[in-house]
Amino acid sequence: MSAAILMPRRIHVGAGAIDKLAETLTEFGFRRPLIVTDPFIASCGYLTRVEELLAAAGFEVAVFDQCVPDPTTDSVASGLECLRTSGADVLVGLGGGSSIDTAKTMAVLAERDGPLRDYKVPNRLDSGLPVIAIPTTAGTGSEATNASVVTDADTDEKMLCLGMGLMPMAALVDYELTLSMPRRLTADTGLDTLCHALEAFVSKKANPFTDALALDVVAAVVKWLPIACASPDNREAREAMMMAAMKGGMAFSNASVTLIHGMSRPVGAHFHVPHGMSNAMLLPAVTAWSVNGAPERYALAARAMGFADPLDSQSKALEALIKGLHGLCRDLDVPSPEAFGVSETDWFAAVPVMAQQALASGSPANNPRVPDAATIEQLYSDIWRGEVNLSLA
Ligand code: NAD
Repeated sequence: MSAAILMPRRIHVGAGAIDKLAETLTEFGFRRPLIVTDPFIASCGYLTRVEELLAAAGFEVAVFDQCVPDPTTDSVASGLECLRTSGADVLVGLGGGSSIDTAKTMAVLAERDGPLRDYKVPNRLDSGLPVIAIPTTAGTGSEATNASVVTDADTDEKMLCLGMGLMPMAALVDYELTLSMPRRLTADTGLDTLCHALEAFVSKKANPFTDALALDVVAAVVKWLPIACASPDNREAREAMMMAAMKGGMAFSNASVTLIHGMSRPVGAHFHVPHGMSNAMLLPAVTAWSVNGAPERYALAARAMGFADPLDSQSKALEALIKGLHGLCRDLDVPSPEAFGVSETDWFAAVPVMAQQALASGSPANNPRVPDAATIEQLYSDIWRGEVNLSLA
């Protein structure tokens, strides 16, 4: 098989990587950055740090600090207004996946007319203004992906956009920025990373490059995420999770996500469940349904995660995988949709449209076992109370 690999052109990793921003802008010849961030990052000291270091290096800086969690076409439109008046030649996405996705989407829309829905998958967005990404969560990997996810304010659809224009030109991946994440955010974003890597590993578009990253990431998350959640100041755990998030982004961006993400986006859009949490609500049940489509790969993942021993049989490894994922989500207090507070009537009323939206995103087609709409509806029904059938489908 052959595969095309896409990555940022320059990545700085490690403590203090954020201080490389002025150097990176100079390296690429940019003079007028627009920093794209959210109100929390603007108030917690990270934005001030960036503004000060850029001012000291003589840059003229503009700021858009009104990004919202799970960006919408409306919030991106406000950012575009700001971009047009700023005269910026580069966007700096500073924050979680929502701020980085906002910056990336502004960058591609700056060169295009018409609404974003005209450009969602299966269309491609292969050009745009340059973006430098500085993540402050360890989860989405958006700093190293060719994707952005934006909710259509008119239809509530969480739209997936793909293309080279969405790949940041550079990323500054500084784990010290994640030391401030509270436990829930750490768990949700870290479980997002786990899903990226597991989905990339079993995807029909997996390749040897993404396989190596994906196996490394699933092992790292199982080892370090519980430690990062229990001990937020543990720098080793924070660093390992930040690397896992970036590598997980590289893995899925070059191999695609599958059924979990396809089903998760509609849950986020309809019920405002945080993205990583809605993935995790689906992770054990969707994996149990999918394993028979790629049993060898899922067994390898189970062994890499330490849920199964190298000498365990394939079927024992697969059962251990489902139990292990279920246990991890339970230990990290992932709620069911019911426990999250979604009304039963609203959930079941939304199931058919969520199933259609999941299929339309294209992600389920990359799953090793491809579901039809009725199967997706059944899986949504199964996870309502979080009861997972631990035997294989
Ligand atoms: P987020 O960006 O939505 O942030 C969630 C909250 O955490 C915000 O209030 C933010 O201010 C806060 N926060 C961010 N960094 C913090 C820190 N260091 N300390 C304390 N609080 C902090 O969360 P996210 O999970 O990083 O991003 C989710 C979004 O990313 C979703 O819209 C999802 O669909 C998208 N996503 C994109 C990709 C991609 O490849 N483009 C991949 C996966 C997910």
